[in-house]
Amino acid sequence: MTRFAKEPTAAADGDEVVFAAAGDHVKGEYRCSECGYGITVCRDLPKCPMCACEVWEAVTWGPFARALASSQGSRPKY
Ligand SMILES: [Zn+2]
Repeated sequence: MTRFAKEPTAAADGDEVVFAAAGDHVKGEYRCSECGYGITVCRDLPKCPMCACEVWEAVTWGPFARALASSQGSRPKY
């Protein structure tokens, strides 16, 4: 008998968040996981120019595009 039912499956509830780190070869739009700074990359992910964070969250475009999130990312921070 195997008991896999109790294992919590993160990111399997439809709200999938894809993270990437600086140096990863990616293409698309990413948002800094720390300050929300948005960038568009087609090769290597840099460090965040705002807070030097190296973890980025992929901005997904689709039927459930997060319009709020993307507008926040493109808004200049003061
Ligand atoms: Zn940042």
